[in-house]
Amino acid sequence: MRAVDIIRRKREGGAHTDEELRFLVHGFVTGEVPDYQMSAWLMAVVWRGLTDEETFALTGAMVGSGDVLDLSELSGPCVDKHSTGGVGDKTTLAVVPILAAGGVQVPKMSGHGLGHTGGTLDKLESLGMHTDFSAPEIIAQVQAVGACLCGQTERLVPADRLMYALRDATDTVQSLPLIAASIMSKKIAGGCPGIVLDVKVGRGAFMKSLPEARALARLMIDIGAAHGRRVAAVLSDMDAPLGHAVGNRLEVGEVVRLLRDDADAAPRLRSLVLTLAGAGLMLAGRAATSAEGEGRAASLIASGAALEKLRGIAAAQGGDTDALDAAAGPPAAPTSCDVRALGDGFVNHLDAEAVGLAAMRLGAGRAAKGDAIDPDAGAVLRRSIGDRVAVGDILATLYASTEAAAREVAPSVADAYAFGPEPAAPAPVVYETIGLDP
Ligand code: URA
Repeated sequence: MRAVDIIRRKREGGAHTDEELRFLVHGFVTGEVPDYQMSAWLMAVVWRGLTDEETFALTGAMVGSGDVLDLSELSGPCVDKHSTGGVGDKTTLAVVPILAAGGVQVPKMSGHGLGHTGGTLDKLESLGMHTDFSAPEIIAQVQAVGACLCGQTERLVPADRLMYALRDATDTVQSLPLIAASIMSKKIAGGCPGIVLDVKVGRGAFMKSLPEARALARLMIDIGAAHGRRVAAVLSDMDAPLGHAVGNRLEVGEVVRLLRDDADAAPRLRSLVLTLAGAGLMLAGRAATSAEGEGRAASLIASGAALEKLRGIAAAQGGDTDALDAAAGPPAAPTSCDVRALGDGFVNHLDAEAVGLAAMRLGAGRAAKGDAIDPDAGAVLRRSIGDRVAVGDILATLYASTEAAAREVAPSVADAYAFGPEPAAPAPVVYETIGLDP
């Protein structure tokens, strides 16, 4: 078998056998298939696509490039969760402790943020938590505390790490089957029989429209089924940032306030967290339906059990639990700067991508892999879609290490807001769910 023939087949619109896909992926990981041939094949896939069968086989070949987490030693039902990424998306920090408090075991591997989107690992590291675990350490921590929030192990889908870097450099990320295979290979290798996917839709997300997001969700559900996993997908809004806080410790604080059941907790964030947690409890068999799961999730927040579980997970990973409480208090950045409205009207648009890029420039995110993060930097949005605003009202407060940095970014946050004469109804935070209840 030769890579050049496989490339030609896809370039001409043909379909691959499972064996061809295994040859390509295995050869790429071992170095027998060079970057330039893999790049050519990826570009052919962007133009020609993959059939569902090819996508299932590609996912399997990618899973086979590394180890699958062996969860057989765990005693309870296991559920995993994944978000396709967005701005202010801190749901993992709330959903995982809710599930663990509800008797579900959650080995949750996450990533760092890049560009306008944040990453769960950066939020955990802002609390001093260790996130670098081996497979046996993940299992031991899940068995002891119910959940582990960590980075991917070295041996988890090495093919995806290599392919993603190439896709990034060759502009071949935007392909539904490649995105689905990339995400699902990591979830399948994560070992859980139940998987909850949060597929973001909107200007701040990979998927800009509901039909695209629906197609991605359905494909990922089908990949899961082909590999014996039960997958539920929640399609949620990412036109505007999720919640009020964007930035690592600021977002941790927002989660603590939510899990404390504070009356001023962001309602859209709470609603999405309950939907995701309800789905997870249902998939784990801890609730008969997702609606019952949502009710159970709300009780686990109200009783304080979920917050106590988050403290337990943070402590087990060497984190500072006092820092959790401190994060829910006043922001710790040395300087702040208010962004004020220049006109009157109703907020009818708040651009998630623009806010995410502004937070990145304040130090909350990375322009390039490996850049340092300022854990205290970011933005708190004081006005959201539907709010009435008069000239001079505070729209947002920016937090940074220097006043100059905050002042420089302020105009772009002001521009992220658009106003109209009539109140616009905010988009629902959950557009629809797929595969939730039988
Ligand atoms: N997230 C992933 O893990 N992979 C992709 O290809 C896109 C988003």
